[in-house]
Amino acid sequence: MPVMNKRTEQLIKLDKRYLWHPFTQMSDWLAAEPVIIEQGEGFYLIDTEGRRYIDGVSSLWCNVHGHRVGAIDRAIGEQLNRIAHSTLLGLGQSRSIELAEKLVQIAPEGLEKVFYSDSGATAVEIALKIAYQYWQNLGESNRTRFIALREAYHGDTVGAVSVGGVELFHGIFKKLLFETYYVPSPHPYRFEGTADQCADYSLENMEYLLKQNAGQIAAIVLEPLVQGAAGMIVHPSGFLKKAADLARRYKVLLIADEVATGFGRTGRMFACEQEGVQPDLMCLAKGLTGGYLPLAATLATRQVFDAFLGSRQENKTFYHGHTYTGNALACAAALASLELFEENKILASLSEKEALIEKSLKRMKDLPYVGDVRHRGLMAGIELVRDKTTQEPFAWEQAVGADVCAAMRLRGAMVRPLGNVIVLMPAPAMDQETLQGLLDIVECTIRQDLPSIVKGQGT
Ligand SMILES: *Cc1c(COP(=O)(O)O)cnc(C)c1O
Repeated sequence: MPVMNKRTEQLIKLDKRYLWHPFTQMSDWLAAEPVIIEQGEGFYLIDTEGRRYIDGVSSLWCNVHGHRVGAIDRAIGEQLNRIAHSTLLGLGQSRSIELAEKLVQIAPEGLEKVFYSDSGATAVEIALKIAYQYWQNLGESNRTRFIALREAYHGDTVGAVSVGGVELFHGIFKKLLFETYYVPSPHPYRFEGTADQCADYSLENMEYLLKQNAGQIAAIVLEPLVQGAAGMIVHPSGFLKKAADLARRYKVLLIADEVATGFGRTGRMFACEQEGVQPDLMCLAKGLTGGYLPLAATLATRQVFDAFLGSRQENKTFYHGHTYTGNALACAAALASLELFEENKILASLSEKEALIEKSLKRMKDLPYVGDVRHRGLMAGIELVRDKTTQEPFAWEQAVGADVCAAMRLRGAMVRPLGNVIVLMPAPAMDQETLQGLLDIVECTIRQDLPSIVKGQGT
């Protein structure tokens, strides 16, 4: 490591003194030399040393058009000249209205109402509570349970964790959570059989639970097409549609958590569109503001909304809200981001980028220590394994994925792994040249650095 400038040194010292980082073993952090980001420029992050990195995971899956995008910067600035924030409790706010109209226009058919909040977890929390109260309001008070997928990730608040299935993150909180029914996620890579058999197995489990617990299930909640935090589990095509059909047939609500998959990530605006699925509730966050400001939305059908109407005495009101619900600056950023989708024809540009990713992944699949490679749209995962023939995984404590990403950093790409899965989630608007640059760094690191990383660990 070259000598750091004084300011970087000071910031690192202060960071280590005052911060507690999310999803981070702070013992490791305190022993390491963290990168401090100071600026962004297009699809690059720039640290306090002036080093530039391609933003390979869209600043944790939220950036869409790049950093310091003129149109979004201006929209926020103009909104600042009006008002930064006013409450939606008992008041309307112009930007939040315009955005709600726009979201309903682009969302799958049937979703007509927008409930704002601030993060993916709250969007899910709200969907769960709406689904629960929907049945209470209709007099079906035994419908209190949810069906979720194993290895699901829906955010980190207690309700969202209760429908989550990532044992590593969620196991310790078990006693704090409400009970949920799980079905195996349709993960062909870990399933001995064809992709269709894998999907069928999962769906049979789902139907069994729906039958066994008739009258007790409020909703099925799932991440459509790709289970992101699980390590980019790509579902066999048709699974989503069939799960949605089961929800219809057994008259339970379907909650689509599009927090990760929304806003172009899978090749369409929303993943549900890929299989013509119309959920009863849809959760949006991450990419909603183009990755600028915290904003989330839970969209609901008119049927769901109508179940909450009534006189005060009927007590059907949805008593839920957050102070910053529908924040005006964030809504202004979201409106500008959605305009850029149209102006720059982002959705139409995605298939060419997907093809670049596919080509690169195919090459990487032949490299040592690479097991499964998978992607849907611009969401990609490269699974590193100790033994290519038996697919025996690396022990997660080895943190091979983290070491590989550290090596990518030195080559100029910022990528964050999920265990031993190298995750790529470039911004939908990333230009092909930068995307190819990112893919080349990933391939080069796996080809040239990974073998010595594994040897260095003596395994
Ligand atoms: C990231 C994520 C969440 C949580 O979003 P936050 O804004 O981090 O709370 C929920 N669901 C899915 C599918 C996600 O990927």
